[in-house]
Amino acid sequence: MLFKDIPGNFNIKEKLINSVINGRIAHAQLFCGPNGNAKLALALSYARYVSCQNKRPKDSCGSCSSCKKYNNLEHPDLHLVFPVIKTTKIKNTISDHYLNEWRNLVLDNAYLSIHDWAEEFKGENKMGQTGMIYKDQAKSISEKLKLKSYESNYKVVLIWCAELMNKDAANKLLKLIEEPPQKTLFLLTTNSKNSLIKTVLSRLQITNVSNFKKDDVLSYFDHLDSDQYKLACDQVEALNYDLGDIIKTLKNQDSDISFFQLFANWMRFLYKKDICKIVDWNEKISSIGRKNQIEFCNYSINIIRACLMYKIKIQTKTFLKQEEQEFIKKFSPYLNEENILIIVHKLEETIYAVRRNANSKILFFNLSLECIKLLTLKTNKF
Ligand SMILES: [Zn+2]
Repeated sequence: MLFKDIPGNFNIKEKLINSVINGRIAHAQLFCGPNGNAKLALALSYARYVSCQNKRPKDSCGSCSSCKKYNNLEHPDLHLVFPVIKTTKIKNTISDHYLNEWRNLVLDNAYLSIHDWAEEFKGENKMGQTGMIYKDQAKSISEKLKLKSYESNYKVVLIWCAELMNKDAANKLLKLIEEPPQKTLFLLTTNSKNSLIKTVLSRLQITNVSNFKKDDVLSYFDHLDSDQYKLACDQVEALNYDLGDIIKTLKNQDSDISFFQLFANWMRFLYKKDICKIVDWNEKISSIGRKNQIEFCNYSINIIRACLMYKIKIQTKTFLKQEEQEFIKKFSPYLNEENILIIVHKLEETIYAVRRNANSKILFFNLSLECIKLLTLKTNKF
């Protein structure tokens, strides 16, 4: 991640670069702002710039030995800290056990949310938790900081989702920030600075990172073909300028799973009460993995909402493909004010249950049976 890869945020980039050039690097800094913005990307680019051996006036060189290690987030003086979930297999709750998984996810999408990360714990995340940064983690960092830096001038400790530090971890970190080992840089990111304990917060230099602007987001996608670019354009406002979510949505379009086909077939089978086809469909949905199951439920909710909008004749800016628009026209007569809310509610409950690792075959089969009843409700008050 180089500064130039991050859309917009020009003033912040300039301020960060100048702090390095002028030798005024605050040793403990917080990047905060809403989900899907550039806070993590900025912190990572800043850490890379601090460590780059051939700094340019506006960015890291991208090719020195330090930059090469940053390409994979594998610099030995970059210590990565993020929330983890206690599992039955790994009791020691430090980030190091999950470094590869976290790096891969961030290298793929540096604008991700804590929920994207929690999904990685799959079957082990029985309670749908978002994870936590525990005291063990703070201890481990403290040990690492006692060692000399390997290659770089600075040792960097990057703490992602710092609001999820528990009290013990935060107090231990506070001691480190108060008496930092020489040439150590703490970079914290959060979307909720008021959730940090005040004594820690008061020690941090704060950089407020706002949501992306529409033009920033579009500049990120300007290399895409026109269909994909149009899709990105139409998602910007629908997804509330959350670049992480927009990237995910576009990736879904590329994936082999067509949520539209899956949803349209499902509704047809349900309406016809075709149990054999529903059983086949159930096999398919059970095989696509929890992450896709959750995204499918969210997709279904969006289509059902679009049907509602269509029925009550409200124009929305949400982007729908031609095939979706045609489906909505034909399908909306089967929805009415009684069943629409219940189906959406059932889908939301399903997302919750998938996150809690419920058996997906049973879950989706039960959901199908409930929806058969709901779709054949005769009342139509629209
Ligand atoms: Zn470099």
